[in-house]
Amino acid sequence: MGGSRVSLKLRRDHRCGQLGLDKVGQTVCLAGWVNVVRDLGGLIFVELRDSTGKVQLAADPNKNKEVHDVFVNLKNEYVIAVSGVVTARPEGTSKDGAQTGAIELYPTVCEVLNTAKPLPFQLDQGEKVDEALRLKYRYLDLRRPEMSGNLIMRHRITQAVRRYLDTEGFIEVETPILCKATPEGARDFLVPSRLNPGSWYALPQSPQLFKQTLMISGVDRYYQVARCFRDEDLRADRQPEFTQIDMEFSFVDEEEVMRVTEGVLVDSFACAGIELKPPFRRLSYADAMGLYGSDKPDLRFDLAFKEFTSVAKACSFKVFKDTAESGGQVKGIVLPGLAESVSRKMLDTWGDYVKSVGGKGLAYMCFGKDGMRSSGLDKHLSPEEIEAIKKLAGAGVGDVILIVADKPKNVANVLGRFRLKLGEELGLIDETRHELLWVVDFPLFEYDEEEGRLMAVHHPFTSPRVEDMDKLESDAENVRARAYDIVYNGCEIGGGSIRIHNQEMQSRAFSAIGLTRETAQEKFGFLLEALESGAPPHGGIALGLDRMVMLLCGCKSIRDVIAFPKTQSGACPMTSAPSAASSEQLDELKVYNKLDKAAGAKGEKVAEKIS
Ligand code: ASP
Repeated sequence: MGGSRVSLKLRRDHRCGQLGLDKVGQTVCLAGWVNVVRDLGGLIFVELRDSTGKVQLAADPNKNKEVHDVFVNLKNEYVIAVSGVVTARPEGTSKDGAQTGAIELYPTVCEVLNTAKPLPFQLDQGEKVDEALRLKYRYLDLRRPEMSGNLIMRHRITQAVRRYLDTEGFIEVETPILCKATPEGARDFLVPSRLNPGSWYALPQSPQLFKQTLMISGVDRYYQVARCFRDEDLRADRQPEFTQIDMEFSFVDEEEVMRVTEGVLVDSFACAGIELKPPFRRLSYADAMGLYGSDKPDLRFDLAFKEFTSVAKACSFKVFKDTAESGGQVKGIVLPGLAESVSRKMLDTWGDYVKSVGGKGLAYMCFGKDGMRSSGLDKHLSPEEIEAIKKLAGAGVGDVILIVADKPKNVANVLGRFRLKLGEELGLIDETRHELLWVVDFPLFEYDEEEGRLMAVHHPFTSPRVEDMDKLESDAENVRARAYDIVYNGCEIGGGSIRIHNQEMQSRAFSAIGLTRETAQEKFGFLLEALESGAPPHGGIALGLDRMVMLLCGCKSIRDVIAFPKTQSGACPMTSAPSAASSEQLDELKVYNKLDKAAGAKGEKVAEKIS
C-alpha cells in the first residue's frame, strides 16, 4: 500500500462536482476521500468525495486491473487521487439528482495519498451520533456534506453582505478584541494583563462603543463581521462567542437603517433561494405584545389576541370582574371552525398547559351548532355578555374562544406561549412562508425587579424619541426608544437603534438608570468625551449571523453552522478548552487559582509581590 505519500504523479485538474455528461470522453484527474467502497466480488465501486460532490469510480479486473488491485485495499476515508476517462453510466444505473450521477470513471491510475484509521463514527450516520462525539472529532463531522454545506452557505451569505454593504458605501473596520467592558448587559469574559498586573481586559460583548467612536472619527458608514463574547448560560441558539454583522451609519434616521438592513437581508436570503420583498411589515412593541404576547411574534400564522376587558369590567363573574377592575386584562384567542372537533380532553390539556406556564387557568366557549359548550361561563355570564364577547372576538357559530384573565404582563406571556403552542399543535404554521417583521417603539427603560431599578432595554446609548424626551425624568418608564428589532419567523435576528449623540442627553439617560457621573465616566469616559467633540447624529444595527445562517440552512442548532462551536457547558471537546493554566503562567500573570488548595499560600505571596 505504501502508506501516505504526497503524489507528484497525479495532479488534480477537476473537482467531482464539475463532472457531468458534457465531460464524457475527457481524461480527468480527481482527488478526494473514499466515501464508500462496494466490493461486488469482481467489480469494485468506490464513491469518491471532495468538497464539491461525489463521483462513482469503478474497477474491473478485466478492464483496469492495476487500479482494481489498489481498490481492493481501500477503506472509508482513505485519501486518493485517480485519473481516467469520464464515461456515461450504463442506462438504468444513473442516479437522479446530482449531475455527477450520470457519469462514472474507470480510472487508469489510482494513487493512495493517505490512509485513515477506523472512524469513531460513520459519516453517513452523523445525524444520529451523539453531538459530543461529533464535536470531539469535528474534522470528521465537517466532512459530512450537510455540515460542509452549512459552512459554504455561511460563506456565501457573508460574501453577499460584504458585496452589498460595499455598494452602499460602508467600509469594514476591525475593532479590538482585548478591550474594556462594553454595555450590552451580559457577563464579561476577562483576560488578565501580564504587563499591568491586577488589570483585566474584557472581551467585547459587541463593538458598540468602538463603532460609535468611529462615527465621531468621521468614518461615515462602518461595518464588521464582528466576533462578540458574552459569558451567559448557553442555549441551543446561543454561543459564548458569536458573530454579528455589525453596522453603524452617520447622519441617519431609522428609515435609512431599515432600508439598508432590508437590502442586506434580501441578498442574504437570496443565497438560500428565498425571495424577500421589502419593505417589511412593522409593528410597535405595544402592538406586538398586545396582539401576540411577544416582542418577536411569529407571523406565519394569525391567532391574534382579542380583548374582552371592557365586558369583564361590567360583568358579574368575579374572576373576570376583579381582574379587570384591578388593572388586569381579559383576553383570548379565537380558533375558527373548531367548535365541534375540539374535545374536552384537548381543552383540559390546554388548561393544564396554561397553568404550567404561569397562567391562572383557561376559560373557553365553543359555539357549536346546537348551542354553547363552555368552562361554566354560561353560569357566570349573561347571554348579552356572552354575545358581547363573541362580537369583540369576531367569532360565530363553529368557533372556539379561549380566554385568560390576569395582569397584563402575565396575559402577554401566557397567551403568547399558548399561541405558539396552538400554532404548532394545530398545524397552523406554514413552513413555506418567510415573515420578516420590524418591531419598533420599544420602551427605553424597563424596571428590573432583581436590580430594583430601571435598566436600558437596548443599551444606554439608545436615543429616546424626540416627543418623549421631556418624560426622561418625570415618567421614564413611558419613554419610547428609537430602537428597532428585526424578526424572522418568530426569531429575533437583529436589533439596533438611533443613538444619543450629545453629552447632555447621554447624562440624562445615565441618571435615569441610576448610573452616577463617576461610574459612567469610569465605564465609558472616552465615549462621553468624544460626544463633546462634534459627534454626528448616528445609529446602527447588528444582525446575528449565526442565528440567521442557522435558520436559512434549516438547522435546529446554532452549533451546526459554526465550524468549531462550544458545548452547552462552554467547552470545546476537540481542543479540550477551557483547561488549567500552569502555575508558571499564573505566576507571570500575578493571578492565583482559588480552587487550588495550595494556592492560598501562593496567592498571598503574589499579593505581596503586587503591593
Ligand atoms: N450593539 C448592539 C447589540 O449587540 C446592536 C446595536 O445597537 O447596533 O445588540
